[in-house]
Amino acid sequence: MDIVNLMKETNALLTGHFLLSSGLHSDTYIQCAQILKYPQYAEALGKELSKMFNVVPDYIVSPALGGIIIGYEVAKAFNVPFLFTERNKEGVMELRRNFFIEKNKKVIIIEDVITTGKSTLEVVESLKKYNPDIVGLGCIVNRSKKEHLENYPIKSLIEIDAKTYEPDNCPLCKENIPVVKPGSRK
Ligand SMILES: [Zn+2]
Repeated sequence: MDIVNLMKETNALLTGHFLLSSGLHSDTYIQCAQILKYPQYAEALGKELSKMFNVVPDYIVSPALGGIIIGYEVAKAFNVPFLFTERNKEGVMELRRNFFIEKNKKVIIIEDVITTGKSTLEVVESLKKYNPDIVGLGCIVNRSKKEHLENYPIKSLIEIDAKTYEPDNCPLCKENIPVVKPGSRK
């Protein structure tokens, strides 16, 4: 399966000149929802990602909202329960909806994209009170240029080293290429 190509075909992976929500400019924009909106692709990506782990977990956990579809599909491939974390009123990530993990259970955390790893580590933090054995982290796209977060190995279907620029120092701006704000209508 040529995942990069499939992501380009479904507009999940765009190349050009983009204004990111962080305010930086980039030559690449990733919106995994564009490939995951096709159930057969979501299922195939989940299956592929599950094969990258050489251990069968007891639970898959993902952060809402971005991780839910791919996390569910990975859990389906392993035939194990899928749980997700949400932010509470204070903005802290936690398991809600009476979700619970028994002590020492093997957990894999699945995301759509790992960029800085911040939200992934928030999930790790939110699970600590259950004393899980977190056996790995997985994502469709790893943009972090890292193979580990803390001591947890990252498995990803693709790695993308997207370039980002300060608007004042953007070579694409200097070439007068119009900047596009993803999500806005053309
Ligand atoms: Zn620019």
